Amino acid sequence: MSGAKRYVIAVDLGTTSTKTLVIDRDGRVLASHSIEYPLYTPGPDRAEQDPLEIYQASVRGIGEVIRKADVASREVSCVSFSSAMHSLIAVDAEANPLTPCITWADNRSASYADLLKKEFDGHQIYLRTGTPIHPMSPLTKLMWMKDHQPEIYHRAYKFIGIKEFVFARLFARYVIDYSLASATGMFNLRNLDWDRQALEAAGLSAEKLSEPVPTTCVLEGLAPELASQMGLEPDTPFVIGASDGVLANLGAGAFEPGVYSVTIGTSGAVRGVVREPLTDPKGRLFCYALKEDFWVIGGPINNGGIMFRWVRDQLATLEAEEGRRRGMDPYDYLTELASEAPAGSGGLLFLPLLLGERAPYWNANARGVFFGLSMFHEKKHMIRSVLEGVVYRIHSVVAALEEVGGRTREIRASGGFARSAFWRQMMADVLGTPVTVPDSIESSGLGAAQLGLLAIGEVNDFSGVHDWVQANQRHQVHSAHYEVYRELTEIYMRVYKQLTGEFDAIAAFQHKHAH
Ligand code: ADP
Repeated sequence: MSGAKRYVIAVDLGTTSTKTLVIDRDGRVLASHSIEYPLYTPGPDRAEQDPLEIYQASVRGIGEVIRKADVASREVSCVSFSSAMHSLIAVDAEANPLTPCITWADNRSASYADLLKKEFDGHQIYLRTGTPIHPMSPLTKLMWMKDHQPEIYHRAYKFIGIKEFVFARLFARYVIDYSLASATGMFNLRNLDWDRQALEAAGLSAEKLSEPVPTTCVLEGLAPELASQMGLEPDTPFVIGASDGVLANLGAGAFEPGVYSVTIGTSGAVRGVVREPLTDPKGRLFCYALKEDFWVIGGPINNGGIMFRWVRDQLATLEAEEGRRRGMDPYDYLTELASEAPAGSGGLLFLPLLLGERAPYWNANARGVFFGLSMFHEKKHMIRSVLEGVVYRIHSVVAALEEVGGRTREIRASGGFARSAFWRQMMADVLGTPVTVPDSIESSGLGAAQLGLLAIGEVNDFSGVHDWVQANQRHQVHSAHYEVYRELTEIYMRVYKQLTGEFDAIAAFQHKHAH
């Protein structure tokens, strides 16, 4: 790196915390700092944050991490940003918030997602904007606001997301990177500009939104007192960066054709990178920008690791307790038990749809099913079938992704599930694809740092990520298991299809009798 500017600061504006990292030219994380803030849930469908809390966390976080790493201000080459997607804040002309930050997890606009599908030709809007028609989308949130908070809706100077809010405060500019723009439901992926019909659905003109800019856009000129508060020079370049999802792919080294990333934490997601915007004729997948020539397509699932937590806390409580008694992590004990059942759990299938499901079905009414239970099935079969069921869920998203983005060569696995070698091997065997695990867990931050270096001209492409992130753990496909799983995934898909009407019936019953 030129001169003495050896460090990049990555800032990740997340839903539960803002994380700041100091990363050197070799991709080593020298220091990290995390500042948590609450997610306010004032009603059943609400999930909000205080935008000022997040702005302050980012300013304070930068200062803290620079102090922790003991880095001089002139050694910082740039600050580069990652952010959660789909947030919406109405602001006045002085960038004061008129509303809380309405997050991706907020469901208040669910009926507007239906309306958009039925009355505004939502599928066509999806095909142009890449954001699935869903209450997470800022487009549906704006439609809600127009009807429910007309005073704020008309008074607002602009409608922005959390990263735009931070940049508006730092630089008095309203800019949105193509990546976060592509997750608003209002951004035309091919024109790289706001989509006229989507804006019409929200009753908006483009002046009410920020100016879309490339993810490599650099802003400079911090107020001197702000710069010194953060431990930076006033002319330190700030790179606008991208969303956490697409940067996680970059930072995990999963950005070449056929290398898909699978994350299973509480929920889960599958993502792959393609070189031009691609939407799915069947509407199952998102398409978000990383750069003009890198696009991330994929799908999120609700029912990821939380299914294993449900097993631990509801289905196998005695076994979990036994694990604790032996001084083990209950998850490890339960996976050990599961490994005593054969691949395919003796023909026991579990459809882990307890939370309804997003990709690829986008069916909020789906519910969980054990299928094929017989007298010889024991707890170990049930536990194993749940772990297999979660991987079948991933399989159905990978299958949709392959239809649009081409064959899988390799899976990069991350999230809590990747702690289990057993579960990772199962993934290789169900998908029929080798699974590797990146050594670093800071994928979004590393991705932001790499994009930052590209933005300031220190590197010419992303190839350096491969030196930053090794993937030493590798699982090859066990072909006998693969054959078993292939037979079962076909039954699994048919069972799901045949039950769609019944899912609606049972969900309606549950709503009616909810207490
Ligand atoms: P979050 O989404 O909250 O960041 P994590 O990435 O930590 O969560 O993932 C939590 C999930 O990871 C748990 O619900 C569980 O399914 C899985 N998990 C955690 N530890 C283990 C383990 N030792 N073995 C298998 N699965 C695990």
